Amino acid sequence: MAGEHLVPSGVALSAVPTLGRNNGTGMETMSSTTATISIEQETNPWEAQAARFEEAASRLKLDAGMWKVLRSPSREIIVHIPVAMDDGSIEVFTGYRVQHSISRGPCKGGIRYAPDVSLDEVRALASWMTWKCAVVNIPFGGAKGGVICDPKKMSQGELERMTRRYTSDLIEFIGPEKDVPAPDMGTNEQTMAWIMDTYSMHMRQTVTSVVTGKPVNLGGSRGRREATGRGVSIVCDQALKYLNMTPAETTVIVQGFGNVGMYTAKLLWEKGYKIIGIGEFDGALFNARGIDVSELMEHKARRGSIHVFAGAEAADKDELLTMKCDVLIPAATENVITSRNASRIQARILCEGANGPTTTVADEILSDKGVFVIPDILANAGGVTASYFEWVQDRMGYFWTEDEVNQRLERIMIDSFDDVMQYAVNHNVNNRIAAYMLAIDRVAYTAKQRGIYA
Ligand code: GLU
Repeated sequence: MAGEHLVPSGVALSAVPTLGRNNGTGMETMSSTTATISIEQETNPWEAQAARFEEAASRLKLDAGMWKVLRSPSREIIVHIPVAMDDGSIEVFTGYRVQHSISRGPCKGGIRYAPDVSLDEVRALASWMTWKCAVVNIPFGGAKGGVICDPKKMSQGELERMTRRYTSDLIEFIGPEKDVPAPDMGTNEQTMAWIMDTYSMHMRQTVTSVVTGKPVNLGGSRGRREATGRGVSIVCDQALKYLNMTPAETTVIVQGFGNVGMYTAKLLWEKGYKIIGIGEFDGALFNARGIDVSELMEHKARRGSIHVFAGAEAADKDELLTMKCDVLIPAATENVITSRNASRIQARILCEGANGPTTTVADEILSDKGVFVIPDILANAGGVTASYFEWVQDRMGYFWTEDEVNQRLERIMIDSFDDVMQYAVNHNVNNRIAAYMLAIDRVAYTAKQRGIYA
């Protein structure tokens, strides 16, 4: 399936609900809701995903049956995970794994550990994985996992026991041909190593391809760690070319200096972009002459935070998003650009390193302002693309050089950017709806070919 080209648009033609009508998800499509919805509704990721799905499906004239199939996740698993804590007490953590679609291949998607994980969030993230894998045309469906916990307050031993029990509770639902987890917020290579080992112990053999984002010595792929940031930097380059801009004259603000934000900032800085602002959950930095990202990485590795860095002034982390810059890259979490700040965004390009950073209400405001949005399901798809490479390499037992990984990643990101732009022009829609249309079109095409098993 990878390497296949655009399927014809509107493959699943038939009578469809029209834009603006209520389609049973409890919400109406974007244009009719802007004035009335509360901030809680506006920032519900599942409703945000549903609104974009509704608009794109409507424009595709997706048939009513396929609409129902693709709108909802196919499976939602909830587990309550007992863990023996270091102090001798027992704690029970709630965990989720939502599998949205297997139409195009095994489910794929990360696992998030955070105190505010919710089922609606995991549902949205699972659907976004389906669309993301389809946008970059890799042979996976979408899934996501989450455990409500605060990994910063847990010991390594507690995290390991929780991860192993969560894995064992999901044992019949995951696997290289079923559902392949990966890291997300609050999880990392070590978490993946524990999942791989636990799954392997149950299977009585080492099964490296059950997860991606593993350490390189345990079947991980070279280049996977930097891949999301590398993908973000590649689509920024493409957007600059599209808009006749050059890196040397482009100022960038990055929100988030974790795995995604840090490598995005580093790679853009190496290409000559001027990184003028960097924000974290607990503070921000600004320097109009540009921040030396390599030095900041060393500073963060030494001090554990970006605070008190000699190469920049401290700035207000919330104000950072609305400061003047050419490219704004939210690379932290959902709902940072909302009805409350969208009208004050000054960037020419918004490139979404995070999943779901912009609400549907903010979308409309940004659209009116003419901001060029590179939507999350395209912009941050470099991570899962490198995960696909990892899964392929594990199954072959033959590993590529970092250059090979990076070259293949670049090709896929450039082609996907072009595909989305082509959809936007052909259908006269904004980039986000174009990306959803492209994705839904591909998934619907495959789902229809497979047919409904009765
Ligand atoms: N968690 C990442 C994402 O949201 C990566 C998923 C994966 O590699 O499967 O795209």
